[in-house]
Amino acid sequence: MSFNIFTHTNLLFIRSFMIMLLSFIAIQLNLCFSNIPSSLTTLNVNGHFSFTNNEFAAKDYGNQYQFLPLAVLHPKSVSDIAMTVKHVWELGPSSTLTVAARGHGHSIQGQAQAHHGVVINMESLKTPKMHFEIGDSPYVDVSGGELWINILHESLKYGLTPKSWTDYLHLTVGGTLSNAGISGQAFRHGPQISNVHQLEVVTGKGEVVTCSAQQNADLFSGVLGGLGQYGIITRARISLEPAAQMVKWIRVLYSDFSTFTRDQEHLISSENTFDYIEGLVLINRTGLLNNWRSSFNPKDDDQASQFKSEGRTLFCLEMAKNFNPKKIVETNEEIESLLSKLNYIPSTLFMTEVTYVEFLDRVHTAEIKLQEKGLWDVPHPWLNLLIPKSKIHKFADEVFGNILADTSNGPVLVYPVNKSKWNNMTSAVLPEEDIFYLVAFLSQANPSSTGKDGLEHILSLNKRILDYCEEAQLGVKQYLPHYATQDEWRAHFGQRWETFERRKFAYDPLAILAPGQRIFQKGVLDL
Ligand code: FAD
Repeated sequence: MSFNIFTHTNLLFIRSFMIMLLSFIAIQLNLCFSNIPSSLTTLNVNGHFSFTNNEFAAKDYGNQYQFLPLAVLHPKSVSDIAMTVKHVWELGPSSTLTVAARGHGHSIQGQAQAHHGVVINMESLKTPKMHFEIGDSPYVDVSGGELWINILHESLKYGLTPKSWTDYLHLTVGGTLSNAGISGQAFRHGPQISNVHQLEVVTGKGEVVTCSAQQNADLFSGVLGGLGQYGIITRARISLEPAAQMVKWIRVLYSDFSTFTRDQEHLISSENTFDYIEGLVLINRTGLLNNWRSSFNPKDDDQASQFKSEGRTLFCLEMAKNFNPKKIVETNEEIESLLSKLNYIPSTLFMTEVTYVEFLDRVHTAEIKLQEKGLWDVPHPWLNLLIPKSKIHKFADEVFGNILADTSNGPVLVYPVNKSKWNNMTSAVLPEEDIFYLVAFLSQANPSSTGKDGLEHILSLNKRILDYCEEAQLGVKQYLPHYATQDEWRAHFGQRWETFERRKFAYDPLAILAPGQRIFQKGVLDL
């Protein structure tokens, strides 16, 4: 027993000491947190901070992560944002305070949240007012908190439009430019991050910096696709082109995946082609073509009525051609000619004609219907992958042929894009090949279910898909990535990790910004 230093007296002493220490830490933390709001109220902002009723800032479209911030800034000017970030920067590494810009909060895994930090409600930032430059190379300057739908409406007043979109337009400029912004126009124009001339950014030190490919180019490239890590986008200069008034919107089906992807790849590689090219996997859908009839017209009514979709995995090629009514004859001829080169199932050709705005805002129409049924604010365990062209068949065999053989819990998008339209200096992480596919599993979970449509089951399917990609070494990259550890982030970035980390140290050395991405932890930047 003489060897045991933990005698009864010693144990009592250690216990008392630990209690005192823990109480002291708790008091310090409390003081720290309770001092933060008062220190923020000393800032002379044009907008205001809210310290209560901030639950909205702890929610997002994914409906799985909820981290309440200590404060929300509703900025009225860029200097409000700069002053706030500078204040946090000046608190130094011993403060745990972080700052997250929140666009429209349509992230899936809490990426726009800040646990006990400050959330900046970017939609309050209404400056600069949208400013259009109409000439040979038209553009618009917009606030980083602007919604794409508003930019569309304003641009159309000048007969102009942005070139590259997302499928859903009720997202902010800062939110999509922090990722990439990919949709059916990306094969031709690249993603939204390829269609930006200039940015104004508030860095992690609270500095306001204008950047472009010519000026502060390293920051410009870093911020595009940079997951909010280097700065808060307060203004963006977005490239525009003349807008069409109308859109021919076309859907056809395939039963063979190879024929489907061959046609998609043919279309995205052709000079004369559609203006929008996407695709969907449809697993065991009842009365699919009948449902299409509510908004599309079949080319051959009788044959379409006889088509059976139940119990089958089908692939839908979705295409759109923009046009102005004066050119309807030429447009129809062009579409005929393009369709004649494709190998879809003839009885499944469906077409409709909608306005340019109706086409681009199509997901919002679906949103309104889902809102009415209470099905919009459910958990959305989405998984988005970028898959090299050479591996897409292997992937499809296992995932559509095995893992998801019976059903999917929401739309599954599959379409190819051309890497040549992406700028390889940005922070976006892409597969190694010239053509790669976006595969998006846009699942929604039934909140009260523990079965196949419940959150746990869908998350386990997502994990199976990711595990398969890893085991089969398909060279897949996550889009809108989400990881738990820094090692996983390093693997995601691969050779680009060094640049990603160097830029973090240069522009946000205390790791104040976008903590919800969980890439860097404040105060532990290890360089
Ligand atoms: P938030 O979720 O608010 O923020 C996303 C990230 O960006 C966070 O880390 C945040 O801190 C950061 N951030 C926000 N604003 C700024 C800023 N001003 N400066 C710097 N960082 C900022 N994506 C596609 O590419 N293509 C699609 O077709 C597509 N369709 C979608 C459809 C729906 C219904 C939904 C919900 C999402 C879709 N997305 C699509 C994904 C979408 O692009 C991203 O989730 C995007 O981040 C959402 O924008 P947001 O304004 O809601 O950003």
